Order: sequence, then structure tokens, then C-alpha cells
Amino acid sequence: MSGGTNTSVTHTENRAAAGEIGSVALVGAGPGDPDLLTLRAARLLAGADVVVHDALVGDGVLDLIPASAERIDVGKRPGRPTPQEMISALLVELARQGRRVVRLKGGDPFVFGRGGEEAAALHAAGVPFAVVPGITSSVAAPAAAGVPVTHRGVSAAFTVVTGHRRTGEPDVDWRSLAQVGGTIVVLMGVSRRASIAAELIAGGLARDTPVAAVQSATTDTQVTERCTLAELADADVRSPAVIVIGAVAAYEFVSRPHHVVDDDRHEPPPDARHDRRHTTIDAAVSAA
Ligand code: SAH
Repeated sequence: MSGGTNTSVTHTENRAAAGEIGSVALVGAGPGDPDLLTLRAARLLAGADVVVHDALVGDGVLDLIPASAERIDVGKRPGRPTPQEMISALLVELARQGRRVVRLKGGDPFVFGRGGEEAAALHAAGVPFAVVPGITSSVAAPAAAGVPVTHRGVSAAFTVVTGHRRTGEPDVDWRSLAQVGGTIVVLMGVSRRASIAAELIAGGLARDTPVAAVQSATTDTQVTERCTLAELADADVRSPAVIVIGAVAAYEFVSRPHHVVDDDRHEPPPDARHDRRHTTIDAAVSAA
């Protein structure tokens, strides 16, 4: 600490000296684009003493972490995993130091984010915690590619499923899933896409069922690969990707050029807050 200029650390030390326990916010960081962070997530980040984050949290979101906050990367990269128990123990320890901890996870913390395990550990340790939902990639990635996960007359349901097989856990019954109908949204399915496609076809899905695989959605490197279910095994898809399977995957509701809508997204019109007019849809339609 440098002469008490770092107020975050000073407050933390005061809390720790007073024997006060800190807190942990399990925060969803959204799919990547910092504009897709919730206001609550941004506020908690701004006030954090320490941020514990995953590999999948977007760089633009990480840039919002204040310089005064400690940043701990516990990204579970292949070959270099941080065991879940270690992460949970770390969160408890940091909170016991009296710190305001933000546990930042890609997408939503409770959608394949292991947020439940961390919440259980915090509860068991008596650490106050909050869960802040985030925009999950399971809907944001399709949307970013112009694919609606439901569409009237086309798909009345969507199933979000993991393609990753964990040892000791039952595998998804893909053949039964093929019978459910609606859209299938696969997370963590890139490396097993060949067997997933084969099982879904064996379960009754047509070989020409449309597929859209959206890679690094909402980031500068977003790529969408479109193919049929029979072609998925050989399609060029890299992780992280959301694989959308079903009739809706043929849609591409994207306005071109994109910037028409995005130009002023950081500058709301000056009168937006103060001079808001409430208009009914009937009035708007008759005025148009
Ligand atoms: N809690 C996260 C999911 C964690 S599992 C959520 O709600 O989004 C990790 C998987 O999420 C990745 O393997 C990939 O399938 C998907 N994913 C997360 N962010 C993504 C992104 N920006 N683009 C494409 N897929 C993404």
C-alpha cells in the first residue's frame, strides 16, 4: 500500500482489522462484449477489492476491472486446470480477509459455470454471497449470428446441453434429445461434434438439419460456420463455440450494414432520460 492513496485497500484493511467478513459476488460477465454486461455487474466490478476470473471472460470486460483491484486468473485451460475445490477455497479465504470479492464468470454463472458449487461452498463457510445473472452464450451467440433460438411456427423450444463428457457423470442421451423437437444448443461441444451429430442422426434428426456454429460470439473475432448436421463432423469449428442445431439455424436475421444501429450505442440521445414521451403502439402506428 502506498501511503493510503489506495482507498480500496485502506477500506479493506479497516474491515479486516475490525474482524469483518467480506463478501463474494458470483457475477455473470456475459458472452464477451463489455456492452453486454449488466449494470449490476459493472457496479460490483467498480467496487471490487479482488476479481477472480475465468479464461472465457472477454478482454473488454477485464479492462473494466479497476487498477486498485487485485486480479486472479483461475482460467481452466486444457492441460492446466485449476481444481474447482481450490477455487472455492480461494473465494472463502479472500472473503475471510474482509475483501469484496467478485467472482467473474463467462456468460451466466449458473449455466455450465459451476456457480452452484461455489455458492454451496460459500454458504457452508458462512460467507455472504450474491448471484448476479449474466447473458448466457447459449442465447447470445445464436443472436449474434442472427439465429433466433425460438421462432413462431418453426421452433417452440430450445434445449441447452453440454457436449462435454465428464468422467463419472452420465452422458447426454442424444438419441432421445433428437426426439424432443425444437432447437438444440450445444455448449462445449466442439471436440465431440462428430459423435454428437452421429447420435442425433441415429436418433432420427434429418441429415440436412441446419447447423450454425458461432465461434467467439460478440467479440472482434466472431465467426459463424453454417452447415448441415451430416457435415458438422468436418466443419471448421473451433472452441469456444455454441453449436445451434435445428431449423432456426438456417436464419440469419442480421441487418447490414451493422453500424447503422451500433454507431451511437455509447451515446444515448441527450433527451432520452428527461424528455421521455410515452407512446402507445396504436398512436405510434397511426403517426407512422
Ligand atoms: N456460463 C457460460 C458457459 C460456460 S461453458 C455461459 O452461460 O455462456 C463454456 C462454453 O460456453 C464454451 O465451450 C462455449 O460453448 C460457450 N461459450 C462461452 N462464451 C462463448 C462465446 N463468446 N462464443 C461462443 N461460445 C461461447
